Amino acid sequence: MGQCCSKGAAAAAAADDPAAAPPPPPAASAPRVEPTASSSSASNRGGASKAAPPSSSAPVGEVLGRPMEDVRATYSIGKELGRGQFGVTHLCTHRTSGEKLACKTIAKRKLSTREDLEDVRREVQIMYHLSGQPNIVDLRGAYEDKHSVHLVMELCAGGELFDRIIARGHYTERAAASLLRAIVGIVHTCHCMGVMHRDLKPENFLLLGKADDAPLKATDFGLSVFFKEGEVFRDIVGSAYYIAPEVLKRRYGPEADIWSIGVMLYIFLAGVPPFWAENENAIFTAVLRGHVDFSGDPWPAISAGAKDLVKKMLNINPKERLTAFQVLNHPWIKEDGDAPDTPLDNVVLNRLKQFRAMNQFKKAALRVIAGCLSEEEIKGLKEMFKNIDKDNSGTITLEELKNGLAKQGTKLSDNEIEQLMEAADADGNGLIDYEEFVTATVHMNKMDREEHLYTAFQYFDKDNSGFITRDELEQALKEKGLYDAQEIKEVISEADTDNDGRIDYSEFVAMMRKGTGTAEPTNPKKRRDLVL
Ligand code: ADP
Ligand code: MG
Repeated sequence: MGQCCSKGAAAAAAADDPAAAPPPPPAASAPRVEPTASSSSASNRGGASKAAPPSSSAPVGEVLGRPMEDVRATYSIGKELGRGQFGVTHLCTHRTSGEKLACKTIAKRKLSTREDLEDVRREVQIMYHLSGQPNIVDLRGAYEDKHSVHLVMELCAGGELFDRIIARGHYTERAAASLLRAIVGIVHTCHCMGVMHRDLKPENFLLLGKADDAPLKATDFGLSVFFKEGEVFRDIVGSAYYIAPEVLKRRYGPEADIWSIGVMLYIFLAGVPPFWAENENAIFTAVLRGHVDFSGDPWPAISAGAKDLVKKMLNINPKERLTAFQVLNHPWIKEDGDAPDTPLDNVVLNRLKQFRAMNQFKKAALRVIAGCLSEEEIKGLKEMFKNIDKDNSGTITLEELKNGLAKQGTKLSDNEIEQLMEAADADGNGLIDYEEFVTATVHMNKMDREEHLYTAFQYFDKDNSGFITRDELEQALKEKGLYDAQEIKEVISEADTDNDGRIDYSEFVAMMRKGTGTAEPTNPKKRRDLVL
């Protein structure tokens, strides 16, 4: 980190970045929580004045440590924008100014240990700490009520990172270099401010608006930590494709972020991840081997400078790996630098489209699986739900669920009940309704159970021919309000390994089991026992 760690350097890096926008104006509403601890000496952002605390008689929230407050008093909550492992994000509108923002809601019940509470507290602190940086999502306020913590942030209405590449059609190494420059600029800023992101991947970069030059914003600091120089981290966190080898070996620092964006660079250039395998453990094995393959298409046509940078970012030895500052100074990444302006092979753009479409298809298939259980299974679940819902309200509280499951002499282990609880309360209101319940129950065993895969396959295969055809896929996904024709074509061509224009059951199973790169972040709690 030698050259790093002056705010001037961070500002220079951001100024160098054409995708960067000028710093946002002061927040419309003042932040609700000030960071309470930070290992970095960098000061808080400017422009945000302290809000008067809400009624001092309100009970103090256990997560944020300040009086609880209803986010809905200030914002009206609108449609869902997305969901991840930890939260659901909704559009929200400031009730008086009309400003549109995004509200990420984290159900407190999912925070079962001290460590979990600490994680959310840290996410809020880190977002405040980084707020005001031009390429990081601005946190406008954090609220805590009885059931949830809500993070109100600026709205990124422009979609995900891949959308920018794909929308343009014309794709060159120079365009990839410009994207990477924006991303490394962000990582440089984080590192200079003493923050390691730990979950860098394309899905965690969003575009602020739909315009061609809309700035790119880093989001999701849910796995981020403050670090001091020389400090060693041991939690295995991150997402399979992007995880650095030293993270798997439980001995790492901020260099691991550079590895993750090295993986992203490889994907930008080749359209496929560098460490790829059929399941997570096999991906980890490939990561630990660290062999980067430049032999197949499109690599022969890629410039030497690009390959040099990929190699230096994916150096298996974190001490020899380039720092963010060094990446910004590599000749390939510089504006008007070595990156050629000739279009990349079509194969790259097509693979990127597939990569994105596959992820969306899988998400849709999971929803379908939840909604198309056999009559019998549904009946069983309904009975179970009714038994638990003593007052027939149509919703059950967590207490009811716990007691009910215990009384039924459930076959579920404590750990499974915990998972069910975690998964069930999707909107974090502390109540589970029937639909959430079914979704969650299925969620626990969905991917590995052949019969569920088969049910899902049958749902798509409307005429029972044993094949999912293009028309069938189109129809099924349209019913769910998803997809355009181009994406459907890509999904088929990706899954259809025998090239007969349709998807048979074995191709469907292979597709559902294949890693996608949007694997949920590996939960550190579930990974403590990982043996490598
Ligand atoms: P998690 O920690 O659960 O992964 P994220 O912070 O990544 O949660 O948010 C989940 C999803 O919500 C994102 O993938 C994105 O689709 C959407 N989202 C999050 N933040 C914003 C935002 N500021 N503007 C628009 N959409 C957002
Ligand atoms: Mg996320």
